[in-house]
Amino acid sequence: MICKKEIWIYAETESQKIAPSYYELLGKAHELKESLNEAYEIVAVILSDSAEEVSKELRSSAVDRVYCLEHEKLGNYNPEYYAAVLSEFAKKHKPEMLWIAASAIGGELAPSVAALLNTGLAAHCVDILINDKGELVHLVPAFGGKLLTEILVPKTRPIMASVKPGIFREREIACSKEAELVFERAEILDSMESRFKLVEEQEMQSSGLPVEKAEVVLAGGRGIGNTQTWEKLKELAGRLDGAVGYTRSLVDIGLEENELNMIGSSGKSVRPKLYMGFGISGASHHISGIKDSGTIIAVNTDDEADIFDSSDYKIVADCDRILSALLEVL
Ligand SMILES: Cc1cc2nc3c(=O)[nH]c(=O)nc-3n(C[C@H](O)[C@H](O)[C@H](O)COP(=O)(O)OP(=O)(O)OC[C@H]3O[C@@H](n4cnc5c(N)ncnc54)[C@H](O)[C@@H]3O)c2cc1C
Repeated sequence: MICKKEIWIYAETESQKIAPSYYELLGKAHELKESLNEAYEIVAVILSDSAEEVSKELRSSAVDRVYCLEHEKLGNYNPEYYAAVLSEFAKKHKPEMLWIAASAIGGELAPSVAALLNTGLAAHCVDILINDKGELVHLVPAFGGKLLTEILVPKTRPIMASVKPGIFREREIACSKEAELVFERAEILDSMESRFKLVEEQEMQSSGLPVEKAEVVLAGGRGIGNTQTWEKLKELAGRLDGAVGYTRSLVDIGLEENELNMIGSSGKSVRPKLYMGFGISGASHHISGIKDSGTIIAVNTDDEADIFDSSDYKIVADCDRILSALLEVL
């Protein structure tokens, strides 16, 4: 029997459901498979204390196989347990590639697994493709998005990649057959004790529409300056059925508590039909998260603000004035 090479996709779960990022990676894996010379199998890998329920969804998600690694210690995410199990399993089955979404969990898990496997990780890829020489290339922004670098992992295996949720698009994939389900107990955890203990779980609350799914995004930066102006922006977003995003500086000045809807290289990627940025300078860390937007309108008091270079329309004005004017007419 000829064993085909495997592309593994780590299937992250959110509230007992498969995260959308899994389907984004899956779409890219199918696209890549079509351009590879050799035959590959696409495999989903899930870690859980009980994978039975989620394995049903994975089974019909257009993969060849689903590896369900189970252990009672895998009920909640624990960086030591998860990295140990995934790396041990990869050592045993030797996948050619291992892809993990660069979510809050995956962003930690991917480098931990890569270190344990002593292999190369292309972190925060924006594309994965085959070049003219038939090599697997990962495109990764560097220097705050000013450069797009090509990362190749020529020697070590698996070739690992992490991709921020929202970078790849989900695509329709016909599922012709149900995948083979392989359940395995993660025995390595029987004798392993972690230094981490889950003390409390707190759900980060986001009011309104998820910024990564909205067709209209209104984003605020440091130039928003005060609560009244920030409330005006939120009010306008509501009237336009839009979502509210922001820069890191807006969190720094305390107008938002957390980075849940922060847009940019360490936050979310958005691709709305309309993006409006208020009081945002246009640092590449932020711009990398809005570059696929349809129309970009920026409001800034500085005529030479960098954001105008990436905008379709520039408004040189005080953002509070523009927000008030728009609220009057909309
Ligand atoms: C590793 C790393 C990762 C990062 N990741 C992210 C990320 O994911 N997302 C992100 O956003 N940032 C990120 N940052 C921070 C980023 O580099 C910038 O510092 C940040 O985006 C700047 O936010 P800002 O534009 O709101 O603030 P500023 O750069 O301070 O700009 C404020 C702008 O408001 C304008 N302004 C002032 N008053 C008014 C007014 N009344 N009306 C209109 N305009 C006004 C000013 O002219 C100025 O252009 C990251 C930084 C690092 C080092």
